[in-house]
Amino acid sequence: MNGLAVICRRVVQIYRAEGGDVVALAGVDLEIAPGEKVALVGPSGSGKSTLIALLAGLMRPSAGRVHLGQTDIGKLTDGELARLRGTDLGVVLQGATRNLLPYATLEDNIWLAQRRVRKVRPADVEPAESVAALVGLLGYGDRRIDQLSPGAQQRAALAVGLAASPGLLLVDEPTSRLDPVARDEVLSALDRVNAERGTTIVAVTHDMAVGEAFGRVVTIRDGRVGAEGRGGREFAVVAGDGTVQLPPAMLASYPPGTLFSVDDVDGAVMLEAEKPAAG
Ligand code: ADP
Ligand code: MG
Repeated sequence: MNGLAVICRRVVQIYRAEGGDVVALAGVDLEIAPGEKVALVGPSGSGKSTLIALLAGLMRPSAGRVHLGQTDIGKLTDGELARLRGTDLGVVLQGATRNLLPYATLEDNIWLAQRRVRKVRPADVEPAESVAALVGLLGYGDRRIDQLSPGAQQRAALAVGLAASPGLLLVDEPTSRLDPVARDEVLSALDRVNAERGTTIVAVTHDMAVGEAFGRVVTIRDGRVGAEGRGGREFAVVAGDGTVQLPPAMLASYPPGTLFSVDDVDGAVMLEAEKPAAG
């Protein structure tokens, strides 16, 4: 299975709530190449979970387009969307045990995940042992989930998310509440999945170590892509509507409504704030 590309164009997501509509995503533009690893960061309420839910095919965008591979998910019927979820997408929810049956063995958990997708016989799917090996749990197949360490449980949750060999793996907070050793084991498991299978991986995280390991860090702010880090360097991103967000730290000095003169000086964009008129 090759990695799935992700393209979001001006994606808007509005929740209809009692107190009024909530604009969770206000025009997200994002391109992820097949086999890329992307960390999604941003303050609470910025729209990360909403974006993951869209990429997971759990809903369709209110406006804009979400392409997963060749497929525009806005154009799919409910049945087609469900099939896509089952065959191409792997989702690992925050909190390892929410993805697992605690009293069943790792092997049974993997097999249940494989069978949930479609009617298959054991011979039709990847052996549980090989999925377990991929996340560093070779030999743990007959261990019950509740007897595994938190770090091994998190990797078991990855194994379940990978059971149907998806082209896109979405993971919410894969390293939260893990000690550094367990965290590194989770990161190497994700790395191995990516290297050996070419699986595209998108992880929501508060953990800088994930961002460093992934190399590409996309910051979501107020429902938009606010900034991007690549190889340790920080970049502003031009959105589909032409807007660029200032780094949050600058907003104290340049409040909304500030006027800038804009000049392009040999590829360097100079913003000069208009001084408030005297008197
Ligand atoms: P994050 O994961 O970055 O914390 P979310 O995607 O969960 O952000 O939320 C983005 C915004 O949408 C927030 O203002 C949140 O309150 C709102 N929101 C999320 N889910 C719902 C929902 N089901 N109904 C109404 N509002 C929601
Ligand atoms: Mg969230």
